Amino acid sequence: MRILLVEDDAMIGEAVSVALKDAAYAVDWVRDGATANNVLQDGEHQAVLLDLGLPGRDGLEVLRRLRRAGNTVAVVVITARDGVDDRIKGLDFGADDYLVKPFDLNELLARLRAIIRRQGGQAAPVLSNGTVTLDPASHEARCGDVVELLSAREFALLHALLLRPGAILTRDELEERIYGWNEEVESNVIDVLIHGVRRKLGAAIIKNVRGAGWMVDKPT
Ligand code: CA
Repeated sequence: MRILLVEDDAMIGEAVSVALKDAAYAVDWVRDGATANNVLQDGEHQAVLLDLGLPGRDGLEVLRRLRRAGNTVAVVVITARDGVDDRIKGLDFGADDYLVKPFDLNELLARLRAIIRRQGGQAAPVLSNGTVTLDPASHEARCGDVVELLSAREFALLHALLLRPGAILTRDELEERIYGWNEEVESNVIDVLIHGVRRKLGAAIIKNVRGAGWMVDKPT
């Protein structure tokens, strides 16, 4: 799960980006609105944390342009503007959620989990394809009687697959969801992660579709 953080305050940006990485998200951080709009055209991110008071292009303007262009990426506004009018405006401009600074980082993570599961068409807090179950809050995976805690990146990999059971994800698509811009990606890292998940939960959990990529089964 790849998140774009749009925040001009160095301290807040650092704190949020560390918290997101600890929670197994890939994070890219930009500090102004025009860059945010440019980056979001690529469709690499599954959610955006958007400050409103930004140098140059204001966060609301970023949001307006995004929605006008038909971009449906999930947006959580994070801002010091706490007036009820501001909150209404933010939501009416197309934000999915609105969090007033200072906010609790754990609350931010919980809200992100909520909008991400809604985005995947799920209301239940735990992801499952009927065979394997994954809890995004604890990073615990369950398969039959086996319960295992996944590493941050194993979690990110299985999460990406379980959000779309039955769909094949290529190596590039998986890497894009697990790593941010500044992170070195070793060429065999996806194989290593898949091996790790299979070792913990069983080899049949993740299917390899030769030459195409990997998938988890659809619920039967
Ligand atoms: Ca700001």
